[in-house]
Amino acid sequence: MLRRGSFSLPEGVIYLDGNSLGPLPIHTPERVARMLREEWGAMLIGGWNGVTRNGAGWMEQPMKLGDRIGRLIGAEPGHVTVGDTLSIKVFQALASALAMTDRKVILSDSGNFPSDLYIAEGLMGTLGQGHSLRVVEPEAVADEIDGEVGVLLLTEVDYRTGRLHDMAGLTARAHQAGVLCVWDLAHSAGALPVDVRRAGADFAVGCTYKYLNGGPGAPAFIYVAPRHAGSARPALSGWLGHDAPFAFERSYRPGDGVARMRVGTPPVIQMAALEASMDIWDTVDLQELRLASIRLTERFIAGVEATCPDLELASPRHPAARGSQVSFQHPEGYAAIQACIAQGVIGDFRAPDIMRFGFTPLYIDEDDVDAAVAVIARVMGERLWEDPRYRERGAVT
Ligand SMILES: *Cc1c(COP(=O)(O)O)cnc(C)c1O
Repeated sequence: MLRRGSFSLPEGVIYLDGNSLGPLPIHTPERVARMLREEWGAMLIGGWNGVTRNGAGWMEQPMKLGDRIGRLIGAEPGHVTVGDTLSIKVFQALASALAMTDRKVILSDSGNFPSDLYIAEGLMGTLGQGHSLRVVEPEAVADEIDGEVGVLLLTEVDYRTGRLHDMAGLTARAHQAGVLCVWDLAHSAGALPVDVRRAGADFAVGCTYKYLNGGPGAPAFIYVAPRHAGSARPALSGWLGHDAPFAFERSYRPGDGVARMRVGTPPVIQMAALEASMDIWDTVDLQELRLASIRLTERFIAGVEATCPDLELASPRHPAARGSQVSFQHPEGYAAIQACIAQGVIGDFRAPDIMRFGFTPLYIDEDDVDAAVAVIARVMGERLWEDPRYRERGAVT
């Protein structure tokens, strides 16, 4: 499972934050440089053309990359596209779903990422049709699905605790009640096997800069179930989602299937970086990845609990109930994480008191887990977090 040689990681660092920003694949700089020199530099505008017309195929890349990501999330070929940011794709998926129902309630949970909830609020205001957002505890979601709810908007893996929703079970329950489902896979894609087709998801979205190593600012992806792909209203009806962008027609006509979810010019440089990371991901067996991830998280939890009595597990104890991250709670969590980072163990902090550690078996192994546990034990045991230098907050935590 280990592909440490495929990534460029600084010496002496144990990187447990690949769930937030995946590290650089070693072939990315070369691929991006090639894109700049041989594609943009040499082909100029011709780069948009397909390779058969001496271009670099930039225009087709969002769908090609979509299929490569599609394999990781169990999507039918041709039903995923790439572009924009995840927040924008949440907007599009939710707006499309709301346009398919007369019901006015959006159901989500308090473990959802704020941007998803903010986007829902903003969209409701823009629509001005009396929609409301019902946010409940994650454990209460199943019981809150009723005939008033139009759309269930959930993130499968909770960004704070790593708690994993039962995507297939909740989707089945929602469908029985006539509710459409939008699943956010930000902390799932590349973290564990996902099967949007089997689960019956109506829409799914996610990002490529976390577990998928596409780099900061890498584009998001969106999946539309084939049964909706020909009828979904993309909400952001940009020219590249038009059926014939270069016909420059007066009025919008949606493109074929999920291609209608494209909006404007795709980020070609970022897509070159994403191609380089997908060269690695194309070869990863997700079942194997999941087993390795569980071995690492189980070992980490056992190690921390044996050595750090002050830390309380905030993640589900059963591995089947969590994604590929482990969180602990401590009132001085922020300073404690800063102290860990100073000792070479990079995790992160999520307010109010969550110390979060992501496990990515492509470049983290059992020895790293043991070394990380030793550092955390020292930080907690020797109260290194008391040092004032670790209390100053940066813009990004
Ligand atoms: C990381 C994350 C986002 C971030 O959205 P961007 O538009 O890429 O900044 C949104 N939603 C969830 C669930 C996330 O985990």
